[in-house]
Order: sequence, then C-alpha cells, then structure tokens
Amino acid sequence: MAGLASSGLILRSHTGARYRFDPGALCLELTTTGGPGEFRRFEVLHTPADLAAWAARSRLSPTPDLDISQAEVDTARTFRDALFRAATARATGVEPVRDDLDVINRTAAHLPLTPAVGPDGKRSWAATATGAQLLSTVARDAVELLTGEYAHRIRVCSGERCHLVFVDTSRPGSRRWCSMEHCGNQHKVRALRERRGEKG
Ligand SMILES: [Zn+2]
Repeated sequence: MAGLASSGLILRSHTGARYRFDPGALCLELTTTGGPGEFRRFEVLHTPADLAAWAARSRLSPTPDLDISQAEVDTARTFRDALFRAATARATGVEPVRDDLDVINRTAAHLPLTPAVGPDGKRSWAATATGAQLLSTVARDAVELLTGEYAHRIRVCSGERCHLVFVDTSRPGSRRWCSMEHCGNQHKVRALRERRGEKG
C-alpha cells in the first residue's frame, strides 16, 4: 500500500541487544506493543502519548497528527490483543475466534485516517486525526492481511521463546525468523555448537 513501505521496527531483546524487525504489515507492527495473557508484561501502551509514539515508529508515513483519548488507548489494547490471537491462530492453522474477528471488524468500521495530496505532490494526512481513525486504518490493514493473498503466509517466528508474528512476503516464502540478526543468528550459533559437540 502507498505510504506503507518500511525498513522495520527497532526492538530490544531481553539481553538489551537491539535488532530490526519488519513484520511485513502495519497491523502486525501493533502486535509488538504487548499482548494478551503472558504477554501482558511487555505492555507499552498505557497513555495516549504511548499510542502516538507507536504511530511514529510504525510504517505509517508521514506520521499523522493525532489527538488520542485515554479510552482510545484502552480500545487499542483490546484490538491489539484480538489481532494478536487472530493472527497467531491463522499462523498455526487454527480458525480465529469469532469474538476476536468481531473486535477487528468493529474497529475497522470507524472512519480511517484521511490521506491528502499537497501542492508539492507529497502525500500527507488531512487534519488532526483521532485514535479511532488511527486504529481503523490499522484494523482495515488487518482485514486486508487476513483475507488477502498472503493470509497463508502469516507466521510465528521459529525462534525459541519468540512469539513475534510476521507475514512472509518473500518470493520463495521461506522466511522463518523475526530477524536474521536476532533469532536467525541465535539458531545458527546453536546449530554450530551442536555440530561441534557431536564432533568433540
Ligand atoms: Zn524471533
């Protein structure tokens, strides 16, 4: 989609190492902000400023001017958790739960961010947008993802204890890792150690 090109988000591992993660879709970028159940401890969406900061880090370009209410932050978490479960279900070959799809569809039913073109030919967003508009744009992206040609390419990273969800848009469709420099590399190092262990 226009204006949605990305080189990924910078995440930080439990050891503090930074790595780049491109989940391949705007909506999946939101699933890095926390999640349901055991992922609650990774929650970063507490205040309107937190949600605005996520928008600035996301592949939305340029960053929209936002006026977000606290209630919209609560909605963002509910929507994010539903999306997290639905995408993970799809990745593992399970049918998503109806309630989660209802939350996604309800969020998408609001008016989305309004795109605008400037005299310089540059793309922007019209006026200041609400949190509901921001979330609608993200939820519409989720509907596109879950119903689109890459729906069968939604995956959970193969890394041990890594639950990052991405859509594999590579031509061969062989992406296994959230990030080569993170889980991909850890896997390589482990495989090397195991091989050496066999020899020694
Ligand atoms: Zn990973």
